[in-house]
Amino acid sequence: MTETKTGEAQQESRPAENQAEEQTPKEQASESKPEKEKEKKSASDNPLTIFYHWCKACNICIALCPHDVFIPDRDGKPIVEHPRKCTQCSICWMHCPDLAIVSNED
Ligand code: SF4
Ligand code: SF4
Repeated sequence: MTETKTGEAQQESRPAENQAEEQTPKEQASESKPEKEKEKKSASDNPLTIFYHWCKACNICIALCPHDVFIPDRDGKPIVEHPRKCTQCSICWMHCPDLAIVSNED
């Protein structure tokens, strides 16, 4: 029984080892790089959540943002066009009359 289990365990681990051997360092680097970029992107690309069904397109947030983070969409609702410029100053969500903006920061 013990031998069989050991044998099975070895067989199971082989494909993973083979996969690792087949990957060149360049391939491994190219796989990990997008993940890092994705992490960076998700943190900086979503500084805010906008609840569009609450937004009445008053444009207050767009007008008050000191860093021009927003641009209006065709209905006048804010799009976070320059997420990296957001400093989390809170002006937009503090002044939104419909409480339609929430920070994504902790
Ligand atoms: S938190 Fe401040 S910088 Fe960020 S979008 Fe709102 S008003 Fe602009
Ligand atoms: S301040 Fe609020 S209601 Fe006005 S446009 Fe911005 S998100 Fe919409």
